[in-house]
Amino acid sequence: MAQKFTHDCAIIGGGPGGLVSALYLRRFKRTVVLFDNKESRVRWIPKIRNLIGYADGISGQQLLNKLHRQLKPFKPDVVKETAQIFRKKNYFEIHAGQKKYLVKKIILATGMKDEQPPIENFADLCEKGVLAYCPICDGYEQSERKIAVLIDCDHGFRKVKFLTNFTKNLCVIALKKFKPSSVHVALIKKLNCKVRWGSLSRLSYQEKSGALVIRQKSHPPLKVDLAYVALGSHVVGSAIKHLHGLSRTREGYFKVNSQQETSVPGLYAVGDCVYALSQISVAVGHAAIASTNIHNVLSKNRRVH
Ligand SMILES: Cc1cc2nc3c(=O)[nH]c(=O)nc-3n(C[C@H](O)[C@H](O)[C@H](O)COP(=O)(O)OP(=O)(O)OC[C@H]3O[C@@H](n4cnc5c(N)ncnc54)[C@H](O)[C@@H]3O)c2cc1C
Repeated sequence: MAQKFTHDCAIIGGGPGGLVSALYLRRFKRTVVLFDNKESRVRWIPKIRNLIGYADGISGQQLLNKLHRQLKPFKPDVVKETAQIFRKKNYFEIHAGQKKYLVKKIILATGMKDEQPPIENFADLCEKGVLAYCPICDGYEQSERKIAVLIDCDHGFRKVKFLTNFTKNLCVIALKKFKPSSVHVALIKKLNCKVRWGSLSRLSYQEKSGALVIRQKSHPPLKVDLAYVALGSHVVGSAIKHLHGLSRTREGYFKVNSQQETSVPGLYAVGDCVYALSQISVAVGHAAIASTNIHNVLSKNRRVH
């Protein structure tokens, strides 16, 4: 018996990757259901300055609002729930809330999550613009400023090295004791960069000077212009708990081919959950590729490009 599908495609994730996928597919007149539990990394961005068309920058929340407004006339079904995928023979069942959806294709746009420093006020500090995560995004604005980098393993030195392009006034805050590799010891020496070992007791914003004050038990307070968090991140995996056969990289990213299709036929992945540069433009590019391919495949390969 033929399956009665609820939608052509389900999109899991309502960040830029998911919203732009929905826009493309609806403009191709495909039926779409978009699931989102509203934890896009974009929410944390006080000002995006590297996005095409926004010379004066735009806040992450404003960008999300604009994308929702752009999508609204195309009326996709939007479900504000956590979705879980169950693979059937050549289609998928999705469980969200109390409901089930049967779809032909899926786009995973579930993003990733940053590890946060062990303090409660990180969201507030982020909003104030004194805690940052992505020097590719905003390193330029930090040129010649006094910057701290919070790390807890050798891996965190990658951000330190990247930041040397913008400032030499760097201080590494190592929250856990570990032995840096010889390459990083050489880097520390070359930069004449201080390393402060020991857990954080507080991070606070100084209203008057606009500075961030870093407090560790074993050191006097340190005033900096801004601190980058380099404590790692992980791909959000709530959607795929019940899914088998999905290949991932060593770091946990979903592996995809040139059309963004994963090792599970019919399941695509875009944006931060794929091994690629974690940037809005990249997520949006992935979305265009995945959704156009899905449309072509569903149209029995009547390709237009
Ligand atoms: C502080 C900060 C500053 C940044 N600055 C910039 C910048 O200036 N420029 C730039 O290009 N990039 C910047 N980035 C990176 C940018 O935010 C990401 O590249 C972008 O958000 C990726 O989009 P995405 O759609 O892949 O994932 P996200 O935007 O993270 O969206 C993923 C969505 O999926 C949802 N989701 C996950 N699992 C499920 C599930 N099972 N069911 C339902 N929903 C689910 C989440 O709730 C979330 O809404 C910054 C990131 C941070 C943290």
